[in-house]
Amino acid sequence: MVDFCPDDTPELKAWRLEVREFLHEAWPSKRIFDYDYDEDPAGWEEYKAFWRAVGKKGWVALTWPKEYYGQARSTVEKWILDEEFIAYGAPTYPVIGLAVAAAVLRHGTHEQRLRHLKGIAEATTLWGEGYTEPSAGSDLASLTTRAHRDGDHWVLNGQKTLGTAAHQCDWMFVLARSDPNSVKHNGISAFLVPLDTPGIQMLPLENIGDGQQNQTFFENARIPADCLVGDEGQAWNQIWFGIGGEQLDNAFAAQDTHLMRMVRMLADTISYCKETKRGGAPLTEDPVIRVQLGELMVGVEALRLAALDGYSKAATSGKGGRGALESNLNAAFYKEFWPHYAQVAMEIVGPLAQIQGGKWAQLNGRFEKYFRTSFGNHAGGTSQLKRMVAATRGLGLPR
Ligand SMILES: Cc1cc2nc3c(=O)[nH]c(=O)nc-3n(C[C@H](O)[C@H](O)[C@H](O)COP(=O)(O)OP(=O)(O)OC[C@H]3O[C@@H](n4cnc5c(N)ncnc54)[C@H](O)[C@@H]3O)c2cc1C
Repeated sequence: MVDFCPDDTPELKAWRLEVREFLHEAWPSKRIFDYDYDEDPAGWEEYKAFWRAVGKKGWVALTWPKEYYGQARSTVEKWILDEEFIAYGAPTYPVIGLAVAAAVLRHGTHEQRLRHLKGIAEATTLWGEGYTEPSAGSDLASLTTRAHRDGDHWVLNGQKTLGTAAHQCDWMFVLARSDPNSVKHNGISAFLVPLDTPGIQMLPLENIGDGQQNQTFFENARIPADCLVGDEGQAWNQIWFGIGGEQLDNAFAAQDTHLMRMVRMLADTISYCKETKRGGAPLTEDPVIRVQLGELMVGVEALRLAALDGYSKAATSGKGGRGALESNLNAAFYKEFWPHYAQVAMEIVGPLAQIQGGKWAQLNGRFEKYFRTSFGNHAGGTSQLKRMVAATRGLGLPR
């Protein structure tokens, strides 16, 4: 493996140690989160308490501007923090909240920033994402949820689907068509919607890959006019992100958490193979398993190097976020490799890999869960979509 270590100064080394010390105190259970959104109520409480503790330190908003609850620290410090959190098995911050913060910081008014960024920085307000509709997924621009202006309110009507953990959230970031005569990418606006608004109902969508998504129905839901973020009708150009758009501001540079979790999973898979004997010998001495482990290592290392290439370009360009080419290509490869990784790991472990809990569960059931969650890899956009965005926005190729 390439030995890449971003903390090459005494200050950065000290920062890494500070993060580690905090984790020992704030994450005493050492429960390993390979996936954030499971439905274990105790897990959720632990998750929320942990992030409130991180928020209290000011580390959710580590790189944000000081006037909006941030500490204006560097991208590299944020990367080190992310690395340590994931190496430790701690859950990642609910990513939707960070995406909302990026949009509000870039396109919100001063009042919207003051109002919404505090709760995200302190991890006291959770956000859901209302993009996808039953007939608008990859082709998001065909969305039909409507918003019409009525005095000093906007009125929402329509249906969103697949809202991750929205039932746990206080607010939802919603895209809706505010110009009834518009088609496709024009005339779409973005709204910051309080989920306790009358006229909003939710139904659960249980996910076999773990966690819960939700259907959200808007029936004449009236939200104050200042819930509109950015310019009316311009959300596609201003705010489209998450499912394939541009990465936003420097303040939101982050390590690729899925990939880092895979790096951790690989280390754990190798340890498992060293410690587990079959026919009297460790699995690592089985020639077939050695080939399989080699295949996993090559895949993970290739992804890691591609990610580091993107980060180094981002750091040297002065922009925190990775470019459209790097971030989308990486996401495409990762999304395709994840189910393959999980399948090969299941084959290495054999039938016991299917057991979720109890004394026969291997790695506490993590292989089984990793396999199931890998089929949710189209969250945030499918690999085909990521390839398309890499080609059009990254390389400037025609559609
Ligand atoms: C676990 C999970 C969590 C999610 N969380 C959220 C959330 O919180 N909020 C939210 O709004 N959405 C969420 N989504 C929805 C997610 O963004 C969509 O599933 C995704 O964008 C794909 O849309 P779709 O499911 O309608 O599939 P479709 O768009 O119908 O795609 C079906 C297949 O066709 C392919 N395809 C479609 N168009 C093209 C094209 N032009 N070229 C090549 N291939 C194409 C796709 O790649 C895919 O393989 C979540 C999804 C999952 C699985």
